[in-house]
Amino acid sequence: MVSRVIPVDPFDLVVFGGTGDLARRKILPALFRRFCAGQMGANARVIGAARADMDDAGYRSFVSDAIAEFDPDAARHKDHLDSFLANVSYVVLDAKGDAGWDKLAATVQKGRVHAYYFSVGPGLFGDLAQRLHTYGMADANSRIVVEKPFGHDLASARDLNRVLAQHFDEHQVYRIDHYLGKETVQNLMAVRFGNMLFEPLWNSQYVDHIQITVAESVGVGGRGDYYDRAGAMRDMMQNHLMQLLCLIAMEPPAKFDPDAVRDEKLKVIRALDPVAPDNVVRGQYEADGDAPDYRTQVETPDSRTESFVALKAHISNWRWAGTPFYLRTGKRLKDRASEIAVVFKEAPHSIFGAEAGRHRNILTIKLQPNEGIELGVTIKEPGPGGMRLLDVPLDMTFAEALGEDGPDFPDAYERLIMDVIRGNQTLFMRGDEVEAAWQWADPVIQVWEEGGETPIPYASGSAGPDDALMLMHRDGRRWREIKA
Ligand code: NAP
Repeated sequence: MVSRVIPVDPFDLVVFGGTGDLARRKILPALFRRFCAGQMGANARVIGAARADMDDAGYRSFVSDAIAEFDPDAARHKDHLDSFLANVSYVVLDAKGDAGWDKLAATVQKGRVHAYYFSVGPGLFGDLAQRLHTYGMADANSRIVVEKPFGHDLASARDLNRVLAQHFDEHQVYRIDHYLGKETVQNLMAVRFGNMLFEPLWNSQYVDHIQITVAESVGVGGRGDYYDRAGAMRDMMQNHLMQLLCLIAMEPPAKFDPDAVRDEKLKVIRALDPVAPDNVVRGQYEADGDAPDYRTQVETPDSRTESFVALKAHISNWRWAGTPFYLRTGKRLKDRASEIAVVFKEAPHSIFGAEAGRHRNILTIKLQPNEGIELGVTIKEPGPGGMRLLDVPLDMTFAEALGEDGPDFPDAYERLIMDVIRGNQTLFMRGDEVEAAWQWADPVIQVWEEGGETPIPYASGSAGPDDALMLMHRDGRRWREIKA
């Protein structure tokens, strides 16, 4: 299969925080991969900006090291490296002061797309927006890319939206949620809205419940400081899991355009019921062998921050009334596995008798580590011995379906950065969406904070606290196994 790469227009991308962890691990390797794929023209320029004292040559060597470490195909791509680096430069700059801004303004070329990637702590977003304006770099051709976390609660998200809106229109602001850049997440929309098969069944009459799991096997690692101030509810649930829920639950947009899609997602968030305290479970991981306890990895020894949260959500609209959505996410769980499972109801009557058992179709959208979609169907167990039923997966894993010559799937950051350059906001969160998501999450967090509630300890390598299992058991349902 021939890969269809559509080159983007020439652009200048300034990576504020160009020496940071995210730039090193994700942004710079993603740009290089798009360059190798022929999507970035030879005249596209990447400008790193941070306070560290470095010249262009020093930064090129930093970028080259980042690519060697984090582009899995770096060896295959080595012939492209010099031409990519030729258009990489660096400006020493302080987001909070005036140093470096004149130089940056002189470096950025007028008359082409300018994208400014805010890969710095959220405390600097306002400073950057304001200085881009002051130094004449906020014009009709500019876009800003804002990393998570977008606010800490509703009030701070509103403040941030207001600060950015002083200098940039909403159509210039790209709030990244890298889950939306995953191939499978977009394929979910293709499966839902490109086939007649699923959409008629996509409602509470046929769907028993939906499970969304984003499980990590690692702990907080070096991010303990940030994480302890956020917790799983803010770090994952309010944004990533909420976005996945929106894509599953939204009405078909009239067309696949940014505002049509985001209008439908917003309606879902606004239709969510408040989460009752007995429908939420929060946990914190304990030590296991060599793996340390959560509290030893953060600065507060008696931290009450959750590293796990599970909850049952209800959407009060015609499509979903009566169908619960069970969401869970956590660190130091059994496996690294993220998936959405749409669990259909059983057939109303089994013609095969009680011994054939009860069976359900489950549509599983796997997000990581392997992306793919699987539909569980019930068939007759082959061979003699009467009518015994068996559940088998119809596997739509892309790599297998499209064969070895299939296209390389760009990773989420590759796709999202190219969308920024193209000016396509479909896969980015709009300001009102983010605020609505905080409006839903805030009361849950407030109950914990006001009640001084301590998260339930859970064993590292487990599926989280037993209470999370009970959240489904008491409804006569069970979580799917956390398995890569
Ligand atoms: P980081 O490793 O701490 O890097 C921060 C960057 O900002 C550095 O390049 C730093 O360079 C620069 N910086 C700090 N103060 C500055 C100032 N006053 N003026 C100009 N530059 C300044 O952080 P990170 O992990 O890359 O994260 C960056 C952003 O992405 C954060 O908002 C984070 O929440 C978000 N994010 C990160 C990840 C991840 O995996 N790392 C994932 C999702 C979201 P100097 O100190 O040299 O100035």
